[in-house]
Amino acid sequence: YARWFAGRLVLVTGAASGIGRATAFAFAEAGARVVAVDRDPEGAARTADMARLIGSPGAWGECADVSDEAAMEKLAAKVAAEYGVVDVLVNNAGIGLAGSFMDTSAEDWRKVLDVNLWGVIHGCRLFGKQMAERGQGGHIVNTASAAAFQPSRTLPAYSTSKAAVLMLSECLRAELAGQGIGVSAICPGIVNTPITGATRFAGVSEEEQRHMRTKASRAYGRRNYPPEKVAEAVLRAVVRNQAVVPVTPEAHGLHFMSR
Ligand code: NAD
Repeated sequence: YARWFAGRLVLVTGAASGIGRATAFAFAEAGARVVAVDRDPEGAARTADMARLIGSPGAWGECADVSDEAAMEKLAAKVAAEYGVVDVLVNNAGIGLAGSFMDTSAEDWRKVLDVNLWGVIHGCRLFGKQMAERGQGGHIVNTASAAAFQPSRTLPAYSTSKAAVLMLSECLRAELAGQGIGVSAICPGIVNTPITGATRFAGVSEEEQRHMRTKASRAYGRRNYPPEKVAEAVLRAVVRNQAVVPVTPEAHGLHFMSR
Protein backbone atom coordinates (compact mmCIF):
# COMPACT_ATOMS: atom_id res chain seq x y z
CA TYR A 1 0.00 0.00 0.00
CA ALA A 2 3.02 2.30 0.12
CA ARG A 3 2.28 3.53 -3.41
CA TRP A 4 -1.03 4.89 -2.12
CA PHE A 5 -0.25 6.08 1.34
CA ALA A 6 3.43 7.04 1.65
CA GLY A 7 3.63 10.58 3.02
CA ARG A 8 -0.16 10.95 3.25
CA LEU A 9 -1.75 12.27 6.44
CA VAL A 10 -4.10 9.81 8.13
CA LEU A 11 -6.15 10.53 11.26
CA VAL A 12 -7.60 7.61 13.23
CA THR A 13 -9.93 8.01 16.23
CA GLY A 14 -10.09 5.38 18.95
CA ALA A 15 -6.46 4.70 18.07
CA ALA A 16 -5.28 3.64 21.53
CA SER A 17 -6.72 0.15 21.27
CA GLY A 18 -8.14 -2.64 19.13
CA ILE A 19 -9.18 -1.89 15.55
CA GLY A 20 -8.11 1.77 15.67
CA ARG A 21 -4.61 0.93 16.86
CA ALA A 22 -4.22 -1.84 14.27
CA THR A 23 -5.42 0.59 11.58
CA ALA A 24 -2.93 3.27 12.68
CA PHE A 25 -0.15 0.66 12.48
CA ALA A 26 -1.22 -0.54 9.03
CA PHE A 27 -1.12 3.01 7.66
CA ALA A 28 2.25 3.58 9.39
CA GLU A 29 3.62 0.46 7.72
CA ALA A 30 2.51 1.90 4.38
CA GLY A 31 4.55 5.03 5.14
CA ALA A 32 1.68 7.35 6.03
CA ARG A 33 1.92 10.13 8.61
CA VAL A 34 -0.48 9.28 11.41
CA VAL A 35 -2.47 11.31 13.92
CA ALA A 36 -3.63 8.86 16.60
CA VAL A 37 -6.62 10.31 18.46
CA ASP A 38 -8.14 8.85 21.60
CA ARG A 39 -9.76 9.99 24.83
CA ASP A 40 -6.91 8.06 26.48
CA PRO A 41 -3.89 10.37 25.99
CA GLU A 42 -1.21 7.87 27.03
CA GLY A 43 -2.69 5.21 24.78
CA ALA A 44 -2.74 7.63 21.85
CA ALA A 45 0.88 8.59 22.51
CA ARG A 46 1.90 4.91 22.71
CA THR A 47 0.25 4.19 19.36
CA ALA A 48 2.06 7.17 17.82
CA ASP A 49 5.44 6.02 19.24
CA MET A 50 4.91 2.53 17.85
CA ALA A 51 3.73 3.92 14.49
CA ARG A 52 7.03 5.79 14.14
CA LEU A 53 8.99 2.62 14.95
CA ILE A 54 7.00 0.73 12.32
CA GLY A 55 7.89 3.23 9.61
CA SER A 56 5.66 6.27 9.79
CA PRO A 57 7.65 9.40 8.83
CA GLY A 58 5.63 11.38 11.41
CA ALA A 59 3.15 10.23 14.01
CA TRP A 60 1.47 12.16 16.79
CA GLY A 61 -0.87 11.23 19.64
CA GLU A 62 -3.75 13.61 20.33
CA CYS A 63 -6.26 13.45 23.17
CA ALA A 64 -9.88 14.22 22.32
CA ASP A 65 -13.33 12.95 23.21
CA VAL A 66 -15.01 12.50 19.82
CA SER A 67 -18.44 13.18 21.31
CA ASP A 68 -17.37 16.65 22.46
CA GLU A 69 -17.97 19.12 19.61
CA ALA A 70 -15.77 21.87 21.08
CA ALA A 71 -12.90 19.42 21.64
CA MET A 72 -13.23 18.15 18.06
CA GLU A 73 -13.23 21.71 16.70
CA LYS A 74 -10.04 22.38 18.64
CA LEU A 75 -8.52 19.17 17.34
CA ALA A 76 -9.44 19.95 13.72
CA ALA A 77 -7.89 23.43 13.99
CA LYS A 78 -4.72 22.09 15.60
CA VAL A 79 -4.28 19.27 13.09
CA ALA A 80 -4.74 21.65 10.14
CA ALA A 81 -2.28 24.17 11.59
CA GLU A 82 0.42 21.73 12.68
CA TYR A 83 0.20 18.71 10.38
CA GLY A 84 -1.93 19.79 7.42
CA VAL A 85 -5.17 18.68 5.80
CA VAL A 86 -6.01 15.05 6.50
CA ASP A 87 -6.00 12.80 3.40
CA VAL A 88 -7.69 9.85 5.11
CA LEU A 89 -9.97 10.16 8.12
CA VAL A 90 -10.94 7.03 10.05
CA ASN A 91 -13.84 7.68 12.46
CA ASN A 92 -13.43 4.54 14.51
CA ALA A 93 -13.89 5.42 18.20
CA GLY A 94 -16.88 3.64 19.67
CA ILE A 95 -18.29 2.14 22.84
CA GLY A 96 -20.38 -0.94 23.53
CA LEU A 97 -23.67 -0.99 25.38
CA ALA A 98 -25.68 -4.16 25.96
CA GLY A 99 -29.13 -4.59 27.46
CA SER A 100 -32.71 -4.74 26.24
CA PHE A 101 -34.42 -1.65 24.84
CA MET A 102 -36.54 -1.24 27.97
CA ASP A 103 -33.64 -1.76 30.37
CA THR A 104 -31.60 0.94 28.63
CA SER A 105 -31.98 4.29 30.37
CA ALA A 106 -32.30 7.52 28.40
CA GLU A 107 -28.89 8.48 29.73
CA ASP A 108 -27.33 5.28 28.37
CA TRP A 109 -29.02 5.76 24.98
CA ARG A 110 -27.62 9.27 24.87
CA LYS A 111 -24.13 8.13 25.86
CA VAL A 112 -23.85 5.53 23.13
CA LEU A 113 -25.33 7.83 20.46
CA ASP A 114 -23.05 10.68 21.61
CA VAL A 115 -19.91 8.64 20.99
CA ASN A 116 -20.87 6.19 18.23
CA LEU A 117 -23.01 8.53 16.12
CA TRP A 118 -22.17 12.13 17.07
CA GLY A 119 -18.46 11.30 17.23
CA VAL A 120 -18.66 10.25 13.57
CA ILE A 121 -20.78 13.28 12.62
CA HIS A 122 -18.29 15.70 14.21
CA GLY A 123 -15.35 14.01 12.47
CA CYS A 124 -17.05 14.01 9.05
CA ARG A 125 -18.24 17.62 9.32
CA LEU A 126 -14.98 19.13 10.57
CA PHE A 127 -12.35 17.16 8.67
CA GLY A 128 -14.56 16.54 5.62
CA LYS A 129 -14.98 20.30 5.27
CA GLN A 130 -11.20 20.80 5.29
CA MET A 131 -10.81 18.09 2.63
CA ALA A 132 -13.51 19.62 0.44
CA GLU A 133 -12.06 23.13 0.77
CA ARG A 134 -8.59 21.96 -0.17
CA GLY A 135 -10.06 20.45 -3.33
CA GLN A 136 -7.61 17.55 -3.69
CA GLY A 137 -9.93 14.71 -2.74
CA GLY A 138 -9.51 12.36 0.18
CA HIS A 139 -11.28 9.51 1.90
CA ILE A 140 -13.39 9.04 5.01
CA VAL A 141 -13.80 5.62 6.63
CA ASN A 142 -16.42 5.17 9.32
CA THR A 143 -16.44 2.10 11.55
CA ALA A 144 -20.01 0.83 11.59
CA SER A 145 -20.66 -2.82 12.44
CA ALA A 146 -22.44 -5.96 11.28
CA ALA A 147 -24.89 -4.89 14.02
CA ALA A 148 -26.08 -2.26 11.51
CA PHE A 149 -27.57 -5.03 9.34
CA GLN A 150 -29.50 -6.92 11.97
CA PRO A 151 -32.12 -6.01 14.59
CA SER A 152 -30.96 -7.13 18.00
CA ARG A 153 -32.69 -7.83 21.29
CA THR A 154 -29.46 -7.47 23.24
CA LEU A 155 -27.79 -4.45 21.59
CA PRO A 156 -30.61 -2.07 20.58
CA ALA A 157 -28.81 1.22 21.30
CA TYR A 158 -25.48 0.05 19.87
CA SER A 159 -27.12 -1.41 16.74
CA THR A 160 -29.16 1.77 16.22
CA SER A 161 -26.02 3.89 16.45
CA LYS A 162 -24.26 1.69 13.89
CA ALA A 163 -27.23 1.62 11.48
CA ALA A 164 -27.18 5.42 11.61
CA VAL A 165 -23.43 5.47 10.90
CA LEU A 166 -24.01 3.20 7.90
CA MET A 167 -26.72 5.47 6.48
CA LEU A 168 -24.84 8.71 7.10
CA SER A 169 -21.82 7.22 5.37
CA GLU A 170 -23.88 6.36 2.29
CA CYS A 171 -25.51 9.83 2.24
CA LEU A 172 -22.15 11.58 2.60
CA ARG A 173 -20.64 9.33 -0.05
CA ALA A 174 -23.27 10.51 -2.53
CA GLU A 175 -22.71 14.15 -1.55
CA LEU A 176 -18.91 14.13 -1.78
CA ALA A 177 -18.44 11.85 -4.80
CA GLY A 178 -18.23 14.82 -7.17
CA GLN A 179 -15.36 16.25 -5.13
CA GLY A 180 -13.20 13.15 -5.30
CA ILE A 181 -13.80 12.31 -1.66
CA GLY A 182 -14.71 8.68 -1.01
CA VAL A 183 -16.68 7.50 2.01
CA SER A 184 -16.66 3.90 3.26
CA ALA A 185 -18.51 2.17 6.07
CA ILE A 186 -16.57 -0.74 7.56
CA CYS A 187 -18.81 -3.39 9.09
CA PRO A 188 -16.98 -5.96 11.18
CA GLY A 189 -18.75 -8.77 13.00
CA ILE A 190 -17.07 -9.99 16.17
CA VAL A 191 -13.43 -8.96 16.41
CA ASN A 192 -11.02 -9.87 19.15
CA THR A 193 -10.43 -6.52 20.92
CA PRO A 194 -10.85 -5.25 24.51
CA ILE A 195 -14.28 -3.72 23.65
CA THR A 196 -16.31 -6.46 25.36
CA GLY A 197 -14.34 -5.96 28.55
CA ALA A 198 -15.39 -2.30 28.42
CA THR A 199 -19.02 -2.84 27.37
CA ARG A 200 -21.65 -1.69 29.86
CA PHE A 201 -24.68 -3.85 30.53
CA ALA A 202 -27.76 -1.72 31.06
CA GLY A 203 -30.15 -2.57 33.89
CA VAL A 204 -27.63 -4.84 35.62
CA SER A 205 -26.00 -4.42 39.05
CA GLU A 206 -22.27 -3.62 39.33
CA GLU A 207 -21.62 -7.11 40.68
CA GLU A 208 -23.40 -8.70 37.75
CA GLN A 209 -21.60 -6.37 35.28
CA ARG A 210 -18.28 -8.11 35.96
CA HIS A 211 -19.82 -11.54 35.51
CA MET A 212 -21.55 -10.57 32.25
CA ARG A 213 -18.37 -9.00 30.88
CA THR A 214 -16.29 -12.08 31.63
CA LYS A 215 -18.91 -14.29 29.99
CA ALA A 216 -19.12 -12.06 26.92
CA SER A 217 -15.34 -11.72 26.66
CA ARG A 218 -14.98 -15.50 26.69
CA ALA A 219 -17.59 -15.93 23.98
CA TYR A 220 -16.01 -13.14 21.91
CA GLY A 221 -12.48 -14.45 22.49
CA ARG A 222 -13.42 -17.77 20.93
CA ARG A 223 -14.25 -16.05 17.65
CA ASN A 224 -10.68 -14.78 17.49
CA TYR A 225 -10.91 -12.54 14.41
CA PRO A 226 -7.83 -10.29 14.62
CA PRO A 227 -8.14 -6.48 14.43
CA GLU A 228 -5.23 -6.48 11.95
CA LYS A 229 -7.51 -8.07 9.35
CA VAL A 230 -10.05 -5.28 9.85
CA ALA A 231 -7.24 -2.75 9.43
CA GLU A 232 -6.32 -4.37 6.12
CA ALA A 233 -9.95 -4.06 5.03
CA VAL A 234 -9.81 -0.34 5.87
CA LEU A 235 -6.78 0.28 3.64
CA ARG A 236 -8.34 -1.80 0.85
CA ALA A 237 -11.61 0.14 1.15
CA VAL A 238 -9.74 3.40 0.57
CA VAL A 239 -7.74 2.10 -2.38
CA ARG A 240 -10.78 0.52 -4.04
CA ASN A 241 -13.20 3.23 -2.90
CA GLN A 242 -15.65 0.67 -1.51
CA ALA A 243 -18.96 1.88 -0.07
CA VAL A 244 -20.06 -0.74 2.45
CA VAL A 245 -17.51 -3.28 3.58
CA PRO A 246 -18.59 -6.33 5.59
CA VAL A 247 -15.47 -7.80 7.17
CA THR A 248 -15.83 -10.99 9.20
CA PRO A 249 -17.63 -14.10 7.84
CA GLU A 250 -20.78 -13.43 9.89
CA ALA A 251 -20.82 -9.81 8.69
CA HIS A 252 -20.65 -11.03 5.08
CA GLY A 253 -23.62 -13.32 5.75
CA LEU A 254 -25.73 -10.62 7.41
CA HIS A 255 -24.89 -8.08 4.72
CA PHE A 256 -25.88 -10.53 2.00
CA MET A 257 -29.21 -11.26 3.72
CA SER A 258 -29.96 -7.58 4.35
CA ARG A 259 -29.70 -6.56 0.66
P1 NAD B 1 -11.66 -0.92 21.74
O1 NAD B 1 -12.42 -0.74 23.00
O2 NAD B 1 -10.51 -1.86 21.71
O3 NAD B 1 -11.15 0.50 21.21
C1 NAD B 1 -11.96 1.63 21.20
C2 NAD B 1 -11.09 2.85 21.43
O4 NAD B 1 -11.91 4.00 21.31
C3 NAD B 1 -10.47 2.89 22.83
O5 NAD B 1 -9.09 3.18 22.74
C4 NAD B 1 -11.24 4.00 23.54
O6 NAD B 1 -10.46 4.71 24.50
C5 NAD B 1 -11.61 4.89 22.36
N1 NAD B 1 -12.78 5.72 22.66
C6 NAD B 1 -13.96 5.33 23.18
N2 NAD B 1 -14.78 6.38 23.33
C7 NAD B 1 -14.10 7.46 22.88
C8 NAD B 1 -14.40 8.83 22.78
N3 NAD B 1 -15.58 9.32 23.22
N4 NAD B 1 -13.49 9.67 22.26
C9 NAD B 1 -12.29 9.19 21.85
N5 NAD B 1 -11.93 7.91 21.93
C10 NAD B 1 -12.82 7.05 22.44
O7 NAD B 1 -12.75 -1.33 20.66
P2 NAD B 1 -12.66 -1.86 19.15
O8 NAD B 1 -13.26 -3.20 19.15
O9 NAD B 1 -11.31 -1.65 18.58
O10 NAD B 1 -13.72 -0.88 18.49
C11 NAD B 1 -13.40 0.08 17.51
C12 NAD B 1 -14.64 0.36 16.68
O11 NAD B 1 -15.03 -0.85 16.03
C13 NAD B 1 -15.87 0.80 17.50
O12 NAD B 1 -16.56 1.79 16.78
C14 NAD B 1 -16.69 -0.47 17.59
O13 NAD B 1 -18.05 -0.20 17.78
C15 NAD B 1 -16.40 -1.07 16.23
N6 NAD B 1 -16.67 -2.51 16.13
C16 NAD B 1 -16.04 -3.40 16.96
C17 NAD B 1 -16.33 -4.75 16.83
C18 NAD B 1 -15.69 -5.79 17.72
O14 NAD B 1 -16.18 -6.92 17.77
N7 NAD B 1 -14.60 -5.50 18.41
C19 NAD B 1 -17.24 -5.18 15.87
C20 NAD B 1 -17.84 -4.24 15.04
C21 NAD B 1 -17.54 -2.91 15.18
